[in-house]
Amino acid sequence: MTAPTPSVRDRIQALPATELPAYLYDLAALREHAASVRAALPERVELYYAAKANPEPEIVAALGPYVDGYEVSSGGELAHVGKAVPGRPLAFGGPGKTPAEITAALEQGVTRFHVESVHELRVLAELATRTAPDTRVGVLLRFNLPLSTASLAGSSLAMGGRPTPFGLDPAEADAAVHLLTDGTCPRLELRGVHAHLASGLDAAEQLAVAESVVAWAAALAARHRIRLAEVNVGGGMNVDYGAPEDRFDWVAYGAGLARLTAAHPGLTLRIEPGRALTAYCGWYATEVLDIKRSHGEEFAVVRGGTHHLRTPATKGHDQPCSVLPVDTWPHPWPRPAAGGGRVTLTGQLCTPKDLLARHVPAAGLRAGDRVAFGLAGAYAWNISHHDFLMHPRPGFHFLNRTADVPFGAAALGPA
Ligand SMILES: *Cc1c(COP(=O)(O)O)cnc(C)c1O
Repeated sequence: MTAPTPSVRDRIQALPATELPAYLYDLAALREHAASVRAALPERVELYYAAKANPEPEIVAALGPYVDGYEVSSGGELAHVGKAVPGRPLAFGGPGKTPAEITAALEQGVTRFHVESVHELRVLAELATRTAPDTRVGVLLRFNLPLSTASLAGSSLAMGGRPTPFGLDPAEADAAVHLLTDGTCPRLELRGVHAHLASGLDAAEQLAVAESVVAWAAALAARHRIRLAEVNVGGGMNVDYGAPEDRFDWVAYGAGLARLTAAHPGLTLRIEPGRALTAYCGWYATEVLDIKRSHGEEFAVVRGGTHHLRTPATKGHDQPCSVLPVDTWPHPWPRPAAGGGRVTLTGQLCTPKDLLARHVPAAGLRAGDRVAFGLAGAYAWNISHHDFLMHPRPGFHFLNRTADVPFGAAALGPA
């Protein structure tokens, strides 16, 4: 399962063991996936990539033809993404924006601010008067809206509908809208509402969330007699690490969003997935260093570990993997090998938490074999605690850099 693509597999097999572990990204697979996501989305639905999922410049740039813009959540991401894809629209979100970050964003010409609190709104208004006196700055108010229990059922990381530091409380909505419409914030233009409420939702759940966010935003706009131009319904499309072949149903989601935009003429919807765009294009490949038995269970210790690929430790899952057998064995003594049962794959860290995948059906796995962990293209290297235990960093390989398929007009988002 999650076997590497042929180009990734060939590269893993060609690398000397000393150049493992390594991250390998198949940019052709990324482009193909992003094109299919784009193609599933109807008119008046914009696709932004949430850069925090994987900010590698090659990834950010490869997504360029398929996305309408990028969501950045810090001054660091702002500068980094601005350099990787100069001139592309950026939306600046995230709690706790500092005045320096807001100023940098204004100077960089960020097109949308996702405002998280009334205080942040006032700071932005003041800085916009100073920094960008001749422009109008687009604002989406981010709200922590109630989620119905039905739509929450499958969610792994709920950020809305319960006490969190994210967004404005719905009780503050009227006051925030007043500030934006009564002349207090002359440089700011209220464009609409933002909500990123949960992650790990399937298409039906995501649609239910989108419908309820849009209904809530439309009622707010009607109450204040303002035009609702945009609603950003966030990211959080599910990636199933236990069943990697079951991908989020973008076609069903797109069809549902089409019904939603049809019901709201003049409204632009925006989504900002991260994980579900890039998870599938990355692999973390390594070598089995040793096989051992301990109290009746078998363990394979691999080069590297969760200090490079923290995803299974943070999410408490088993990272899907496949074995690439290596037939040569350089030593005169017997090769350590697993028996016929299941093997737990661990890393080199001196902590029992360094588990990459438990009880993998890898009968006969040997020291010297290679293992490729899939779904490692999002929230993997960039969320890991690299310096813990001071092992060397992995290599990075970006394969199929150039597009071998021309981009059709259909691959481009609405202007
Ligand atoms: C993290 C985040 C996203 C992306 O979430 P995924 O689960 O990676 O799709 C989108 N919007 C906001 C505000 C976020 O914090």
